[in-house]
Formats: sequence, structure tokens, C-alpha cells
Amino acid sequence: MWITNAQYADVAYVYTRTGAGKKDLTTFIVEKGTPGFTVSKEIHKMGMRSSPTGELSFQKCKVPVANRVGNEGDSTIHMMKNLEIERITISGISLGIAQACLDQCIKYAGERKQFGKNLAHYQLIQKMIAEMYSETEAMRRMLFTVCYEYDHGNKSNSLASAVKLQLPKMATKIALDAIQLHGGYGYSREFPVERMMRDNKLNEIGAGTNEVMIMIIAKNLLRDALRS
Ligand SMILES: Cc1cc2nc3c(=O)[nH]c(=O)nc-3n(C[C@H](O)[C@H](O)[C@H](O)COP(=O)(O)OP(=O)(O)OC[C@H]3O[C@@H](n4cnc5c(N)ncnc54)[C@H](O)[C@@H]3O)c2cc1C
Repeated sequence: MWITNAQYADVAYVYTRTGAGKKDLTTFIVEKGTPGFTVSKEIHKMGMRSSPTGELSFQKCKVPVANRVGNEGDSTIHMMKNLEIERITISGISLGIAQACLDQCIKYAGERKQFGKNLAHYQLIQKMIAEMYSETEAMRRMLFTVCYEYDHGNKSNSLASAVKLQLPKMATKIALDAIQLHGGYGYSREFPVERMMRDNKLNEIGAGTNEVMIMIIAKNLLRDALRS
């Protein structure tokens, strides 16, 4: 389920179980047109609507050994490594959404007149903008620091999960504040902030949910304590 670009893909990179053990996963490349391999129609989503999502189905689908990627049973490690990179990348999308919300709010606060003055004059609006700015900068600096660590070979499952837990959550909050700052227009399709909230919500779910990030971090940090 939930495969990005499923309808457009000529090949699918599929992790499949090839043994009884929890980690017996192997990767195969399955080509479009392989008997038994079908792709569903596009699934309608609340956001990220320019990125199509579908379901892949395998019914008695035979794939030759020549299509295997790497060695049999080696794919858990590949999957986990790919997921770390995906989690950091997705957090970058949330940072972009937060920045776009902030930019849009500053613009709107300077344009919209209410009770004879621009919204920008009101301290409650100023507070929202100041909070959004400081949250966005906290996001940026956390993400860039972790990217720097990764670029220098210092990879950490806990850190990638921590970034993925915090940035999408913060961007959803910022996007909701951006809707609030726009009043009625924030709730309408005339302004982009409602779309940004819908788009960003996916980042709290895809590549592992917030709850799964919490589980990974807690497991890593408490591994020894939980053993005894
Ligand atoms: C638009 C979209 C695109 C996607 N693209 C891809 C893709 O290209 N490739 C791909 O492989 N996947 C893709 N996914 C799948 C995505 O990674 C999963 O949807 C996501 O990891 C959540 O899994 P799930 O949907 O099975 O939810 P579930 O696992 O059913 O979770 C339901 C709820 O239960 C919670 N939960 C689950 N287990 C536990 C637990 N042990 N303890 C506490 N809470 C728990 C979850 O956090 C969530 O709140 C995509 C998903 C979406 C929505």
C-alpha cells in the first residue's frame, strides 16, 4: 500500500520476505508487465496531491533470481539505511513548508487591514510571527547540524529519527498558526497555507510515523537499561 509514483514506475524496488526470521528480507526489481504484478488507480489523498500514490499487488508473481538486488537476506540493513536518509530528506520538506508559511504570513500581515491598521501592527500577530520565525530557525539549525554530521560520516539512527519526529510536528503547528493568522482566508483555497498544512501532515506519517520515531529513539537510548 501507499507507494509513491506507483502508476508511473517502470520498475518497482520491492522488499520481500524470503525466510522465517524477522530480518529475512531480500530486495527484487519487479518490472512493469511482469505477470501477476498490477498497480491500482491513484489513491485520493488530503495533501501532497501532485505526488501520486498507489497500491502494488502481487498475485503468484514470479521474479527471476537475476532481478535480486544484493544477497539474499541482506535487505534489512539496506532498508534501514535508506530510511535514515529518507527521514532526514522529508524533514527538509517540512522546513521548506515552515519557511513558506512564515513568508506568506509576513506578506499578509503587511497587506490585510483590520480595525484601520495593518495586521502587522497588532502585538498578537507579531507574537505569532516571532514564534514562527524562532521555530523555523530551530528547525533549520537542527536539520543542518544533523546533515553536517551525516556528510562527515557520523550517522545516527537516533538523530535521524529525532529530526523526523520534531520537524514535521513543528511545521504542522506553524502551518496551523499560519491559517489562524489569515483568518477566514486561511481556511479558504485562495491562499496557500491550508494546502501547506495538508501537505505537511504527510511528513508526520510517511517513512515512519511520529510514534514509530519515538519507539526507535526510546529503544536505542534505553537498550541496555531494558535488558537488565
Ligand atoms: C502518501 C503516502 C505515500 C507513501 N509512500 C510510500 C512509498 O513510496 N513506499 C513505501 O514503502 N511506503 C510509503 N508510504 C507508507 C508509509 O511509510 C506508511 O503509511 C507509514 O509508515 C505508516 O504505516 P501504516 O500506514 O501501516 O500505519 P499503521 O502502522 O497502521 O499505524 C496506524 C497508527 O498506529 C500507530 N502505531 C503503529 N504501530 C504502533 C506501535 N507499535 N505502538 C504505538 N503506535 C503504533 C501509528 O503511529 C499510527 O498512528 C506512504 C504513505 C503515504 C500516506
